[in-house]
Amino acid sequence: MNIDKKTKILLAITLLVGLLVGALFFGGSTKEEDNKTEVKSKAEVWTCSMHPQIRQPEPGDCPICGMDLIPLESGNDDIDPEAISMSESAMIIAGISTYKVGNTDGIKEIALNGKIEVNEKTVYSQSSH
Ligand SMILES: [Zn+2]
Repeated sequence: MNIDKKTKILLAITLLVGLLVGALFFGGSTKEEDNKTEVKSKAEVWTCSMHPQIRQPEPGDCPICGMDLIPLESGNDDIDPEAISMSESAMIIAGISTYKVGNTDGIKEIALNGKIEVNEKTVYSQSSH
């Protein structure tokens, strides 16, 4: 197989471009992994999403209901102590969703079944003489 010098240079450039593109797509994950390990080391207390009184130092099952324990997030120390704080996974399990307050037209259609009765306070009769 005879390859001239120009083809060799073209192949080398193509290889370099391929490596650079590959590094762009797959090389940026090391920083994310570092953050994940940092979060894991922070979560030292594990609790049950249904029984918040359960506090354990390691992951496992809830002794009351047997659900998997979730890491307790204690990073929000600056919020109101009487406020309720839930992790994202706990909110998903509890079916909680939040919406930003905004301006809407305020019209909502509701289909209801019912029975119509006459309001006796508005019915009058006059006896004739
Ligand atoms: Zn539980």
